[in-house]
Amino acid sequence: MNIPDHPLEIIWDITYACPLRCVHCYSESGRRPSRQLRRADLLRMAEAIVAMKPFGISLAGGEPLLVKELFEVVGRMTDAGIKVALFTGGWTLRPEMLDDIKRGFFRVSVSVDGATAEVHDRVRGRRGSFDRAMGALAMLDGTGVDFGIDFVVVRSNFQQVEQVCTDVVPRFPGLRFVSFGAVVPEGLASRESFAERELLSDAQVATLGDPAYRERLRALVPPSVHVTATDNLALQMHPELLREGRCYPALQIEPDGEVRAMLAYEGTVGNLLTDSPAELWRRAVERWHDPFVVDALTPVRTMEQWAEATRKIDLHFGSAADRDRIARRPALT
Ligand code: SF4
Repeated sequence: MNIPDHPLEIIWDITYACPLRCVHCYSESGRRPSRQLRRADLLRMAEAIVAMKPFGISLAGGEPLLVKELFEVVGRMTDAGIKVALFTGGWTLRPEMLDDIKRGFFRVSVSVDGATAEVHDRVRGRRGSFDRAMGALAMLDGTGVDFGIDFVVVRSNFQQVEQVCTDVVPRFPGLRFVSFGAVVPEGLASRESFAERELLSDAQVATLGDPAYRERLRALVPPSVHVTATDNLALQMHPELLREGRCYPALQIEPDGEVRAMLAYEGTVGNLLTDSPAELWRRAVERWHDPFVVDALTPVRTMEQWAEATRKIDLHFGSAADRDRIARRPALT
């Protein structure tokens, strides 16, 4: 594939603080130090990201709305003409934030992982989180913000995908999109216990990647709502998928500026506050072709094998602190 000479998209996990405890959390937010920068360095980071001239920036985490300087940081990015998207669990969204959200973000995704409180709250690890997410969607409705639902599909909520389309989406007349993505075996979702209980089967992943299934979901929502469903295999970085051009040329940045080599795997290649962006991108792309990565991913044919490869790559390229955190992960019960 032709790899661009700079990342097309930047994902900045601006904090690892989070009020939720999702069973699949990719970043283990809320369970580890937030590593959030102070104001001056947050603004330096914003300038450094802008200087990379990405097409778009996604602010995720953790819960970005917990960062009190968030709207000042976003302002630096939008002043440079770059579109910024917000990913939130909705728990901390308050009415007084709505004007700033409308000014700062071109798009807001609220995480909803079930059509009912029972399923959503179990997946999201906190009672009341479904009601809070519904409250956040209701607050955004009618404000003119381009907002929608981001749904991580795991085994225990797969059967509610259609119900979200029929029961949840129509509750919000201004809702513009709903995205269903197969859970990626990264972070807590790479645990063996997660793979046994909550990782999708290969057939379920194939369903999510099937255009016919997407069309079926589209028929369930009002015509104004855009539906996407993805198998997320582009995040695997399998050598064969890379050759076919199925990858996501984005750079993921940890809260303190450490830059990940690959979105789904532990291991950083430097810090955006101290290293040149071009050099960081070069090192990241080099990692995609590292012999250890190629050896770990080449045999992968199933979701379980993907989770196994993630565990190998994370232990190999993660820092001592990462390995320590991985060793302390509780089993999913
Ligand atoms: S809301 Fe996001 S960051 Fe927080 S625990 Fe859930 S997946 Fe992790």
